[in-house]
Amino acid sequence: MNIISHNCPRCHTKSSAFDLHVSIRRKDINYRPSTYIGFDTLGQCKVCKKGVIFGYEIYQGNWTKIDYQTPDSLSYEPKDALFDLKYIIPETSNSSVPQFTPDPINGFYVQATQNMNNDAWDSAGAMCRKVLDVGTKLLARTNDIDLNKQQTNNLAARILRLHEVGKLTDELRDWAQKIKNDGNFASHDEDPFSQTQAEELFNFTQIFLTYTFTLPGMLASKRPPEENGTD
Ligand SMILES: [Zn+2]
Repeated sequence: MNIISHNCPRCHTKSSAFDLHVSIRRKDINYRPSTYIGFDTLGQCKVCKKGVIFGYEIYQGNWTKIDYQTPDSLSYEPKDALFDLKYIIPETSNSSVPQFTPDPINGFYVQATQNMNNDAWDSAGAMCRKVLDVGTKLLARTNDIDLNKQQTNNLAARILRLHEVGKLTDELRDWAQKIKNDGNFASHDEDPFSQTQAEELFNFTQIFLTYTFTLPGMLASKRPPEENGTD
């Protein structure tokens, strides 16, 4: 077993220690004229005890030089044996923020993710509420949607208003309604969240961000360039 240092995508500990337990050899990769050998290595974070897959690749010639050892069987950092770390599963939290989510909402979402990963349901729920609160206000502002006093102060009322003017789908409205009835849209921050409530609200938050920022952002970025008059 080998031990390496890496930021943990599960509990977000910086430079955590991981025990590398086992490697499976993936299909060889041909980057002509060279062949690379790929491994998926199971690591366990010493802080949160959760598992992570490290995806390594090594040039065949370099693998021969280290007697065909695998990342877990080495007694030093795999990168020192010229193993390249190509990916980690799960990815770190920053890359899991729905694309095109603006500041500061993306920062709140990262905190919600960290709290979810740490089983901190109250903090996660409060952060999701903050994401939705700021996100729905931004959505109303950027689309010049008038809000009355109740819609300004109350998240559920604001979601209904955004649905009414066509900025949220029926499904999102129904989901918001369900969550509201379960009590976890309550504006009282002292109400504790159960795990189920936090998970529901987190899922809703993800879908809200994807629908509100990711899809429009992707469509805008894929829009063909303006014709410039040449054939
Ligand atoms: Zn961890």
